[in-house]
This record gives sequence, C-alpha cells and structure tokens, in this order.
Amino acid sequence: MNGTNLATLDLIIALCKRRGFVYQSADLYGGLNGLYDFGHLGVLMKNKIKDEWYRSLFSTGLDIVLFDGSILGPEIVWQASGHEQNFNDPMVDCMNCKRRYRADDPDVANGCPHCGSNKWTAVQQFNMMFQTNLGAAANSSATAYLRPETAQTIFSNFKNIMSSNRVKVPFGVAQIGKAFRNEITPKQFLFRVREFEQMELEWFCHKDESQLFFDFWCKARFDFYRSIGLTEKNVHLRPHSKDELAHYSSQCVDVEYQFPFGWKELEGIADRSNYDLVQHGLFSKKDLSVYDERTATSLVPHVIESSVGVGRLLLSILFDAYNQDTIEGDERTVLRLSPKVAPITAAILPLSKKLTEPAFKIFKDLVPQYGPHVEFDDTGSIGKRYRRYDEIGTPVCFTYDFDSQVDGCVTARNRDTLAQERVSIDFVNQYLQDVIK
Ligand code: ATP
Repeated sequence: MNGTNLATLDLIIALCKRRGFVYQSADLYGGLNGLYDFGHLGVLMKNKIKDEWYRSLFSTGLDIVLFDGSILGPEIVWQASGHEQNFNDPMVDCMNCKRRYRADDPDVANGCPHCGSNKWTAVQQFNMMFQTNLGAAANSSATAYLRPETAQTIFSNFKNIMSSNRVKVPFGVAQIGKAFRNEITPKQFLFRVREFEQMELEWFCHKDESQLFFDFWCKARFDFYRSIGLTEKNVHLRPHSKDELAHYSSQCVDVEYQFPFGWKELEGIADRSNYDLVQHGLFSKKDLSVYDERTATSLVPHVIESSVGVGRLLLSILFDAYNQDTIEGDERTVLRLSPKVAPITAAILPLSKKLTEPAFKIFKDLVPQYGPHVEFDDTGSIGKRYRRYDEIGTPVCFTYDFDSQVDGCVTARNRDTLAQERVSIDFVNQYLQDVIK
C-alpha cells in the first residue's frame, strides 16, 4: 500500500462538496464568488482546529484572556486604525472585457485570462472594507464597516479588558471571529475569500521585551502547525523584507505553507509596535497607557500579533492529508488527518443490520464525551463504509461482528495502516483516548 499525495484544488473542492465539508454559498442561485458555507464535517473540523488553537495558546502557561468583539465597527475605529485611508489593494480593469484584477495578480502580467487582451487601465486604489449604515439615519455619523480584521475590536476595548480581567503586561487577548474583505479577485477556493474567520492573538508587552516575545511566538506558532499534523517540510517561516512592512511595523514573519499553487501565507506574525493603541488614544482622546510595576513607568504597550484564517488553515490541512492508495486492487482516497483535527474521530459499525442494537449501545456510551465527533453507521457494505470514513479522515473504525457477542470485543481498524485488532468493548474509550493523544 503506497500512498501518494496527488491533491489538486479540483479534487479537494469536489471532496469537500461530496462529503459535506464546504459548499459554494447560495449554490442554488449559481453561487456567490468568494463566499462559502460549511457543512456538518466542515463545522466539526473547524471546531477542532479552533480548540487546538486555544489549547496551544493556553498550554504556554502565559496570561491570556478571551474576547469576542462585534463585527460591525463605527467609522472612527477604522479611521484611527488607518484602514479607511490605507486598506487598499491596487486594481486594474481590462480595457477589453472590463473585468477587474488585482494589479499584482500574475494573470495581469500574462494577459487577461478571460479575453486574452493585455490592455489595462491605470492602477487605482480599491478599499477592501465593506461599508454600511447603522439605523435609519442617512448621515456620515451612522457609517460603519464590517471589520477586515478582528484585532481592532480588542484595541478599542483595551482599557475594559485590562481592568475587568486584572491582567498586567505582558498578557495576551485571543479572539476567533469573522472578518470581511472585499477581495478584488477571490480565488483558490478557501484560500482567498471575502468572508472568513480569523484566529488572532494580540500579545501586549513592554517595548524592551517585544523582540523576546516576537521570537517566542514565532517558535510557538511553528510548533502549533507541527502539532496538528502538517508535514514539516511544507511549512516554513518567511521574514518580511523591509519594503513589505507596514510603516508602523518593525518586523513581520509569515508562516507559509507549500500549496500546490506555491508557498503562500498561512499566518502573519507581526510586531505592530504600539501604533494601534497610540492611534486609538489620539482619536478617542482617552489615555491608554498602563502602569508597569516592574519598570515603575507608564507605557503604551507594544503588540505582537499572530493572525491566521481558519478556512485557509483548513484548506492547507486538507491538501496535506489528501492521499490516494490501492488496497487489494481497489483505489481509495484517504485523508491522513491527525486525530486532533479529524472531523469524525471514530465510527461504530455493526457488520450486519442484525447487530445494530448492541453496536448502537457502544456508540451511545461514547456520545456524551465525544459529541458529534463519533458516528454510528449501519448502512451499506462494510467495505463501502470503510471507504467513506477513510475519505473523511476518520482515524479509527470499530466494527461489531458476530463474534462480538461471544468475546465482548470489537475490531478496531486503523485508517492508515489498515491494521485490525480486537479490543474489549469495555476498553473502546481508553483505546480512543490513546488514538487522540
Ligand atoms: P494576503 O497577503 O494573503 O492577502 P494578508 O497579509 O492581507 O494576506 P493578514 O492581514 O495578515 O493577511 O491576515 C491574517 C490572516 O488572515 C492571513 O494569514 C490568512 O490566513 C487570513 N486571511 C487574510 N485574508 C484572507 C482572505 N481573503 N481569505 C481567507 N483568509 C484570509
């Protein structure tokens, strides 16, 4: 059995739709470009990714508190942060077919893929924030934006977070939530979309410790990707060159993943200096400095940020795990997912419908602990059921057969090695715990 990773974008998209991970949004009406809905398995997988992210942060033992900000923010927040002025992408229109592209899109250099023309308008700046109005008032005081990053909600509630949680610098605020960007050319499935979830950590520290913590988080974040099973050679850290940095940022490192379409950013780790808090202090006319006991001075903390998109990460995990191999002459598709991120951790399969009742009892005993991450399936041949669970990356299936009634055991089948072993029904949960470790 020689597994080969032959993943292409088309294969991943087809698998996601077929098995209910991800669908095009408003599919019934032809779909909406750059917007996707997550189905049952997609939601389960995203939940595991988020749990692992939280776990990785808290296992550092550092002071970290949680936050969940609103998606809509008043215009002044985005004026203070600089997004209203600067959150632009360069855009060109094809003079022939009028289609729009990001000016730095390789398709622009190569000629318009839609009509073949290579005549473009001059570059214009396009602001990527979605604007809306709050309430019925049609004046500029009601202007709001959908947040293009979650971070600003943390900065604009920084004082409340500090005082209510009794935390002291250095500490972190972690947030998972939706962000919206009106990308000019959404592409590559979940890689570049217009609505997505971000997992962001804002780490507040003394300026003198910002280098120390920047290095610490670069290592911690790299280790996180290893811990959830991404192949090490497919992940690297790429420091930004000076001309890539935002004007307020002293350094930035991208965690990049080797997608079939090249090395691309998975996560950004940035030293944001104290730019955001200083700006919000100026615009709100409030004092955002804190007293630092260790140095006995007042300071506006510096911020190290780690920011990764849940969907983009999910896509990289699928690419990494996708394999095709041959078992006894039959081709199978298998997702070699770490149990930490596999949407279904285990399935309970009675060999025959006649065995449904005792097998279902095993399943019912597991559900309180594993929730929707364990499944019961008594439909179709056992071979077909194994293929289904292989294709969605389920690490282990427990099969209840006619011997089970005699010896009180089930057969545990390993997704990757196909090894089968008898396990006492009383130890199924323990077996599963060992698989998850
Ligand atoms: P890119 O250069 O790919 O547009 P960026 O540098 O603008 O990304 P950041 O602002 O650093 O991205 O956002 C942090 C993370 O949020 C990214 O590393 C990515 O995982 C995710 N992300 C950003 N934009 C999108 C998007 N349009 N679709 C999906 N995920 C995104």
